[in-house]
Amino acid sequence: MTERKKVLVVEDEQDIRELLRFNLEQEGFHVVEAGDGELALALARRERPAVIILDIMLPGMSGLDICRTLRQEEETARVPIVMLTAKAAESDKVVGLEIGADDYVTKPFSPRELLARVRAVLRRAQGPETARPHQFYERGRLKIDFDTYQVFLDKEEVRLSLREFELLAFLARHPNRVFERLHLLDMVWGRDTYVEPRTVDVHIRRLRTRVERDDARPELIQTVRGVGYKFNDAALGD
Ligand code: CA
Repeated sequence: MTERKKVLVVEDEQDIRELLRFNLEQEGFHVVEAGDGELALALARRERPAVIILDIMLPGMSGLDICRTLRQEEETARVPIVMLTAKAAESDKVVGLEIGADDYVTKPFSPRELLARVRAVLRRAQGPETARPHQFYERGRLKIDFDTYQVFLDKEEVRLSLREFELLAFLARHPNRVFERLHLLDMVWGRDTYVEPRTVDVHIRRLRTRVERDDARPELIQTVRGVGYKFNDAALGD
């Protein structure tokens, strides 16, 4: 690696900052640290980090406020952000993703998982900025074109409603993560419209008839009993 990539770690707890610094430096990153929002914003503007790891619970300005501010400013609008959230604060994740964070890791996290997320957001961000090619999801028999809103199964186009497409696209972008129905409502339908949680079930059921081999025994969009739904990408093979 010729040029070490810079990571900005925003976290008020020193132990966690040190843990992150140690692991990131092991991976060849250059680490800059901030313990509060003001310094975080100043460093984000000045140091131009390749990625920001942002804790939500901070004294003063919260991580969500910082994220919102970063997204509003031109120089920092596109820097990948991985949020750190407490396990109890489920809704923070949703809000975080909505206001432009790229991913999140729940505390307590394993450094390995966090590094994997950091590498993933960097990979995604490294796509050429000009003439961006279509964004695809492709695995096994399923292909999703996020730009043209087309879905193909074994190369045959599958007709989906806009909502079904958005639901599938959202799930495919977050494979193997379990989402509660209310979260899916927030992420896919948005907060402005009032929709009952069972609407999600109805759409999932319809989506299954389109994309599952046997919608009575769904393999791809799985129900996690008592919690919600997840996109099981292993069902697609390689
Ligand atoms: Ca904290």
